[in-house]
Amino acid sequence: MKEIVIISGKGGTGKTSLVASFAALAQNAVLADCDVDAADLHLILTPRVQQTHPFSGGKQATIIAEKCTGCGKCSELCRFEAISQIPATGTTRQAVYHIDPVACEGCGVCAWFCPDKAIDFSDAINGHCYLSDTRYGPMVHAGLGIAQENSGKLVTLVRKKAREIAERDGKEFILVDGSPGIGCPVIASITGADLVLIVTEPTLSGEHDLKRVAQLVTYFKIPALVCINKYDLNPVISDRIIRDAQQRGSAIAGKVRYDTVFSTAQSLMQPVVEIDGSKTAEEVTDIWCTLLDICTSRA
Ligand code: SF4
Ligand code: SF4
Repeated sequence: MKEIVIISGKGGTGKTSLVASFAALAQNAVLADCDVDAADLHLILTPRVQQTHPFSGGKQATIIAEKCTGCGKCSELCRFEAISQIPATGTTRQAVYHIDPVACEGCGVCAWFCPDKAIDFSDAINGHCYLSDTRYGPMVHAGLGIAQENSGKLVTLVRKKAREIAERDGKEFILVDGSPGIGCPVIASITGADLVLIVTEPTLSGEHDLKRVAQLVTYFKIPALVCINKYDLNPVISDRIIRDAQQRGSAIAGKVRYDTVFSTAQSLMQPVVEIDGSKTAEEVTDIWCTLLDICTSRA
């Protein structure tokens, strides 16, 4: 089984459209949407959710109002200024304290030192992980709650579940729609993968972001290929990207032209390779064949 992760230096490069096409071409894959901060693979693959699992990325403190004596100790100790006093009113005999769930970093200091054991410190539910069926095979995806963090942990959970399903069902591939950028979620998306495809576009920012993410992939010693989407929008930068990638030792998986067929495919909730007669579909298929060749040669 081979795990192929598709990433990009920044969002909006067409990465997810390519993953959806690879899902259609692979036929024997488990799909994993690890772009948990902006998941949108489900918009094309329309998964039917079979199981939902809560995700906890850490702890959350909550004051139990009936037990709180209003001593203020927790507010003094909280380094994140997450605990504030609500002044006494006509109906409350004393000031009470409140924890802002967004500001709370889950360190646990307040719960530890509260003299009246008036702070509940339990697992926070930060999001959900979904196990679904699609017309191209099983898919694992996730959703983070509003203003929730720890997406790196959630990415790790999505990949773990995808691997379990792939091993159980004897799948040949795990196709991962990775997080963009170079932060914790993308590191969690690529570590231990067999192959990474970096999708970029021929703009100055695309070129800059590609260099950063390529350095990251090199650091983790993962074989990487580069794909240029909309290459014909700026052939000069496209040529430079190819030259730089070759100097770094990254192979070019292929180039995809600018084509409104991507928008058409999205509005039809279909992968581009399922739109008949498109030259772009051929280019995307060629890239998939290149990935297959590399995987086979490394088997
Ligand atoms: S330390 Fe405990 S009792 Fe004192 S204000 Fe905080 S929650 Fe209330
Ligand atoms: S758990 Fe830590 S961050 Fe959260 S309210 Fe308590 S002291 Fe502040």
